[in-house]
Amino acid sequence: MAICSKVGFPDLFITYTCNPNWLEIQRTLLPINLKPPDKPDIIARFFKTKFDNLLANVTKKGVLGKVLAYMYTIEFQKRGLPHAHLLIFLHPSNKYLAPEYIDKIIFAEVPDPVKQPKLYGLVKNHMVHGSCGMANPKCSCMTNGRCSKYYPKKFQDVTLVHQDGYLAYRRRDNDFTIEKNGIMLHSDHVVPHNPYLLMKISAVIVPSAGGREGNYDEIKQYLDCRYVSPSEACWRIFSYSIHGRKPAVGRLFFHLEGENSIYYKDFEQIGNVLLKVSVTESMFTAWFVANQVYDEAKLLTYGQLVSKFVYVKRNRCWRPRKRGYTIGRLIWVPPTTGELYYMWMLLIVKKGPTSYDRLKNIKGFKHATFR
Ligand SMILES: [Zn+2]
Repeated sequence: MAICSKVGFPDLFITYTCNPNWLEIQRTLLPINLKPPDKPDIIARFFKTKFDNLLANVTKKGVLGKVLAYMYTIEFQKRGLPHAHLLIFLHPSNKYLAPEYIDKIIFAEVPDPVKQPKLYGLVKNHMVHGSCGMANPKCSCMTNGRCSKYYPKKFQDVTLVHQDGYLAYRRRDNDFTIEKNGIMLHSDHVVPHNPYLLMKISAVIVPSAGGREGNYDEIKQYLDCRYVSPSEACWRIFSYSIHGRKPAVGRLFFHLEGENSIYYKDFEQIGNVLLKVSVTESMFTAWFVANQVYDEAKLLTYGQLVSKFVYVKRNRCWRPRKRGYTIGRLIWVPPTTGELYYMWMLLIVKKGPTSYDRLKNIKGFKHATFR
């Protein structure tokens, strides 16, 4: 939410799945006569390598446009394979608002097998949903006699952006087909994808907003949450990150006057505890000091401070930032905390106060309470 409030809504939602048939995995496992489920460590390592490559292509090389921020999470299917969900926030000059721009990066049609044989092969192997429906009622996606993923999709000549942000991609009924298990499938079974990324690595792109309501099985969800698959276990043993985001979000602490947290060990003498600098100084009170010292700090709210300043814990002070970029987020406090809550509301808007009293000063009038 902190990132959204700074750079706006995400533009692209990319799902990146692990494929046990990846050449690298097959090449490693075939000579030792093992199958992908036997070697979750290999799966985790290849997935990590390939995902890092995808991330670098999208965020550093900018193959889908200039990226302002991103966020990802790694998840594991119950019986094993990892997949990643990646949110991309694009630069305002690179947003894909109009259907003709969307058509440049997302495709949902069977490619020409003669002109694009490599792409055709990849779409055939990875980007065709089904066959399901009447042709294959036993397919795992089928619930109550229909496909839970809403395939086959409707044909349409142009990409449509609905008011709720839900997208219907251009899906023309071209003459190209793909044969799956003896059934000829048309473009209405193609999963939306980006050809460039698909040729590099395999990925699925789905709309980032909207979607349809489904029935949630809470018991199943709970059991899924409790289950750690072998490849997830390996992922965690290797200490690969489960989430990632850029820019970083810094949490900003604050407190009422004289109510800062003080940490001490249970055997410490109270006299020594009271001598600690943390009794009188904190990240928050250091902000008041920074507002006295730096002109630039006076132009910022507490939440904006981290974009230009860094808190130096050792010296308990804020110093001008030399490198990096961080977004600040005030810690959340519930309305039941009373004065603290009202102070939080003031902190969202007030710039440059040098003391608690100054913070209570609104339009030249000094109020008795934050409320
Ligand atoms: Zn289906």
